[in-house]
Amino acid sequence: MSAYQDLIAYQRETEALAQVAGRLGWDQETVMPRGAAPQRAEEMGAIEAVLHARRTDARIGDWLAAVDEAALDDAGRANLRLIRRSYERNVKVPADLASEIARVTSRAQGIWAVAREDEDFAAFAPTLEKVVSLRRQEAQALAAGGDLYDALLDDYEPGATGAALEAMFAALRPRLVELRAGVLAAEAPPPLDHGFDEAGQLALSRELAAVFGYDFDHGRIDKAVHPFSSGSGLDVRITTRTSARDPFNCFYSTIHEVGHATYEQGVDRHHLLTPVGGGVSMGVHESQSRIYENQLGRSRAFTGFLYRRMRDVFGDFGVATEEDFYKLVNRVQPGYIRTEADEVHYNLHILMRFDLERAVISGDLKVADLPAAWNERFEADFGVAVDKPSNGVLQDVHWSVGLFGYFPTYTLGNVYAGCLHRALRAAVPDLDDQLARGDATAATGWLRENLQRYGGLREPRATVEKACGFAASEAPLLEYLEEKFAALYAV
Ligand code: ZN
Repeated sequence: MSAYQDLIAYQRETEALAQVAGRLGWDQETVMPRGAAPQRAEEMGAIEAVLHARRTDARIGDWLAAVDEAALDDAGRANLRLIRRSYERNVKVPADLASEIARVTSRAQGIWAVAREDEDFAAFAPTLEKVVSLRRQEAQALAAGGDLYDALLDDYEPGATGAALEAMFAALRPRLVELRAGVLAAEAPPPLDHGFDEAGQLALSRELAAVFGYDFDHGRIDKAVHPFSSGSGLDVRITTRTSARDPFNCFYSTIHEVGHATYEQGVDRHHLLTPVGGGVSMGVHESQSRIYENQLGRSRAFTGFLYRRMRDVFGDFGVATEEDFYKLVNRVQPGYIRTEADEVHYNLHILMRFDLERAVISGDLKVADLPAAWNERFEADFGVAVDKPSNGVLQDVHWSVGLFGYFPTYTLGNVYAGCLHRALRAAVPDLDDQLARGDATAATGWLRENLQRYGGLREPRATVEKACGFAASEAPLLEYLEEKFAALYAV
């Protein structure tokens, strides 16, 4: 066998074990008996240790050195590039630092949860300082004199840099702040005021998943506290949740996770369990979930279909017309919490987290000064003062588990979704007629054909550019938001 074949066989075995670990995680969040937690922690620890040893095995370095790259096709070269990048990252971080990060961040999440419950940032600050210090050490090992934040960002969005994102976000921020002010000056529709039974929500969420192309032969939907998508290839599962007063939580989180899951299901099968065989980056992944959820799922055309189906399932729920329903689904209201934010507010949440975490990692902002910096920025962009830490700096889990560099991929996903939506509209001129009938086949087919099937074949930006036929920028997202909400709120 050639060095490449040896390398790929080894890699497939590692990826198979990683999928097993992921399925244990899925099990833990869905059906695991409560009393199993301590044993499960040991099971997960054991498999993570095996995975870490395999990913840093010196044989990978030998195979990489021996591969005849000229003999490979495009997929082979892409696999090689991805394996080399991950191997080089893994060996640059000293083993004791990697295990210290794993140990500290697994404890930090519990300390953060208690501090948030108690509205006590000071109780969390020493732990967060430790997490920041460890991630900075990791970034120093990876960056070799380069930018620390970029080194962390590279884990989630290869090729992205803090400077490039800063420029993109600087173009978004003033126009989003202006749009927000205009929308909030207009009258918002009243909130939904009705009860919705769980069985109806779960049945309709399964129907929506099927509409957006989710393959139930290679996936399943279960209930969990937090909606997520897990797995890749032939077994991609999602979870959802219900809320008696807010069925949109169930429906739109399902459509969001279906976007992630169909991406994983949609990669060409011959890449199965190889590095090319999954989504290319967090940002591109998020573009799939966002275009399904927002540009398609919250469109006037599709909400007309959803309105009719909800009337079939739940009867009259106090919304008189499709037009009123469309306004309700796209209701804009000020709020502190990122995960509850509407399309107008969402990216403003991310922009502030990006600036703050970048300053923390560079050393310009001390952890102790983070709450004050947060509150000041929030008031500037959202026009409201933060009332308590759980509505401010303590609201997200990310920093406690060391995820610095992750937040900007959410907005990057929205930006990419804006670009893909523009290209999709040009390719499928009667898209709205189809969506109004509850038919998303052409939309999801276009995404699969032009983006999803390639997996990690190209770098993230190139993946989006190949699908769109133009270079990605923030302009299509801004124009989409301004046009949609100007019409909705007569701004
Ligand atoms: Zn997502």
